[in-house]
Amino acid sequence: MTKRTPSIHLQKLEALHFRVIEKHPNCSLIEKDYRIKRSGFKGEQQLDYYLSFVPAKICEILPDIRLQANANLEHYFQMDTILKTTKYNVIFETKNHTGEVTYNTLTNQLTRINELGELEVFQDPIQQVKRQELQYKKLLQSMNPQTQQVPLIPLIVFTNPNCHIKIVPEGSRLPKNMIKAESVPSKLYELEKMYKQELIETKVLRQLTKKVLKSNTPYNPDILEKYHVKEQDLITGVFCLKCINVKMRWVKNSCWRCENCGFKNKNAFLKAVNEMILLYGNEITNKQFSNFLEIPSRVTSYRHITNLACSTIGFSKSRKYLLSLQNQYPILAQQ
Ligand SMILES: [Zn+2]
Repeated sequence: MTKRTPSIHLQKLEALHFRVIEKHPNCSLIEKDYRIKRSGFKGEQQLDYYLSFVPAKICEILPDIRLQANANLEHYFQMDTILKTTKYNVIFETKNHTGEVTYNTLTNQLTRINELGELEVFQDPIQQVKRQELQYKKLLQSMNPQTQQVPLIPLIVFTNPNCHIKIVPEGSRLPKNMIKAESVPSKLYELEKMYKQELIETKVLRQLTKKVLKSNTPYNPDILEKYHVKEQDLITGVFCLKCINVKMRWVKNSCWRCENCGFKNKNAFLKAVNEMILLYGNEITNKQFSNFLEIPSRVTSYRHITNLACSTIGFSKSRKYLLSLQNQYPILAQQ
């Protein structure tokens, strides 16, 4: 399985959540969206653990796939995880809710009472996953008509161990495509028993996976524009990797040093560089760079940015440096 990494959208939300000033009118909305997105990612990671028990010998597991539903329309659909085998396919839609969630089999409504005692209403996960199924089926058939015969099974997986699913009205049963994460391995064994016949060749399966990955278009918004945040609404500076909320200063010709704990590190600014790229894009001027990292000397800033840049665009003051995300400091704390 391709290792799941935080989506670019989640990374951008995390950078914005860390950097936006508290008094910004959209601060609480950013916080809310970030928590939802991050919880979703944790749920998907939980599913990945159970998918390691997959019984099929030949299979491909694709995380976070977002595809265009119609070539002429800017309409996309997102699937948390797809499992592809030569005998059947599965679409997983993960839900990482905690506490008691209620599913009403008559109204098809999923609700939850949150920690504040408020009623939260979610879109019907069954309809959601069925829409994905139809759109994905159509797309697969356009890629290769042979896929028409391969069954596509949509599954809704509740990934949080602290989630209790209550089904109403009393006496109704949990819909069979709604399961808890720990039941994923047994569900897959069940499918393996049910669909024994190879319907496409392994070669075709691999080709299809390549095509799907090629068509994958991750959601990548301009996050400042989306939340109406301006450059002056952002907290600048390089923060200590140990104290988190304390700034570090560049010690001339040496390293970054924390003003509080004295922690020194030459590369401590790379986390801030990543956040700057996620917020501003990867074309950065030396002025933006020195302002964001609070480097008072233009020469020092120039030295740092030229060390990192892979190429430049334009000349003199309007010159932009092309930067890429630094792997040494993955932005999302994975704990
Ligand atoms: Zn410190």
